[in-house]
Amino acid sequence: MSHIIVIVGAQWGDEGKGKIVDLLAERFDIVARYQGGHNAGHSVQVGEKSYVLHLLPSGIVHPRKTCVLGNGMVIDPQAFREEVTRLRAQGIEITPHRVLVSSRAHLILPYHRVLDHTSEERLGNERVGTTLRGIGPAYEDKAGRRGIRAADALDPAVLRARIERNLEDANRIIVAYGRQALDAERVFQETWAAVQDLAPFVADTTEYLNRAARTGRSILLEGAQATLLDVDHGTYPFVTSSSTTAGGACIGSGLAPHRITGVLGIVRTYTTRVGEGPFPTEMLGEETEIGNLIRERGREYGASTGRPRRCGWFDAFATRYAAEINGFSSIALTKLDVLDALEEIKVCVGYKLDGRALDSFPAVAQELRRVEPVYATLPGWRRSTLGVTQWEELPEKARRYVEFLEREIGVPIGLISTGPERSQTIIHQHSAIAAWLRD
Ligand code: GDP
Repeated sequence: MSHIIVIVGAQWGDEGKGKIVDLLAERFDIVARYQGGHNAGHSVQVGEKSYVLHLLPSGIVHPRKTCVLGNGMVIDPQAFREEVTRLRAQGIEITPHRVLVSSRAHLILPYHRVLDHTSEERLGNERVGTTLRGIGPAYEDKAGRRGIRAADALDPAVLRARIERNLEDANRIIVAYGRQALDAERVFQETWAAVQDLAPFVADTTEYLNRAARTGRSILLEGAQATLLDVDHGTYPFVTSSSTTAGGACIGSGLAPHRITGVLGIVRTYTTRVGEGPFPTEMLGEETEIGNLIRERGREYGASTGRPRRCGWFDAFATRYAAEINGFSSIALTKLDVLDALEEIKVCVGYKLDGRALDSFPAVAQELRRVEPVYATLPGWRRSTLGVTQWEELPEKARRYVEFLEREIGVPIGLISTGPERSQTIIHQHSAIAAWLRD
């Protein structure tokens, strides 16, 4: 059977999607991204080699897989050029046969990067903590119907005219913030040069993906960022500017909802967050040391920015919400081994606000800042699980922990990751994931 699966992070990102997409990619014909830009950062470890990907889907490290950058993405042509050059130097073949960039994807231009800075400055204490790569401003232009799409940029006259028009407005803001206005001709020349390298890859990916679906090819739709960063369902306004959840996969790829045959949630055994924004289970005060231990053991530093990530306990309440929004068919649980060192492990099973238990995930960031997590405490196993591949070989307390999470989330955990490498994985043979890998 041909599968069309969406993979989405259930928390605030960095759940280890890269490894899971990489593992599944082997059995899929096409790996496509449907939102975001080079603000994403996946690390994929293959044997001795490590690849960092920002724009291209993780499937790129597999020869013979086609990779699609869908219409829902925003693409910085210079970042695309840099990533292609870097990956080619690592021996990866990147040709227009195996990489297709949607003609409908919007471009990030140099002024979007400057506007990202001015926007964060304007917000002061309420800044979002973006990666400052121009992603948000490019999506603003898209919604404002003045964006420049990959197809538009192929015609120099259109590209120049749009840059001139858009820069007039952008410069007003840039100058008001005490920065130097950008020169339209220079922006055009820089962009046009980078577009030359992008042009051979530009294609009608909507048509390509639909034809692939019709003819029974299997497609992996790879989310970037994660559920709680979704512009609608996340912890607004501390979110990314696109639809990261499973519904966004249809919009950002052009594949209809009925085509999707499964949704895989990536869940990590603890939680992290980069940037600003509420984080109920963050390890603070007396727990700072545990947070530091997890950060070091789990190497929790941004793949894109190198920023240390804020660490916290597993939040089953938030993950239940994520499971609902996305309709997870199955869950891949990552980084079990990172918890090997802990004596006790806490899991947030509910939120209280002003002493009252909440029955739904708060819509308002200010409320989320004030909630009090309700914890269950489980014993740690204090034994290495690194590289374990069989469920029965896990320490009993580790199995109890996984079973507890499964019950709390209400979705079967089909895969458990016990290390960064492909082989360091437990797969439950009766799970949906096993079927996706088998069929
Ligand atoms: P992503 O964007 O969701 O893929 O997250 P990252 O790129 O930040 O990936 C997480 C990091 O953890 C990468 O360096 C992976 O190689 C690594 N990783 C993934 N799964 C596991 C695991 O089960 N155990 C350990 N120790 N590391 C893992």
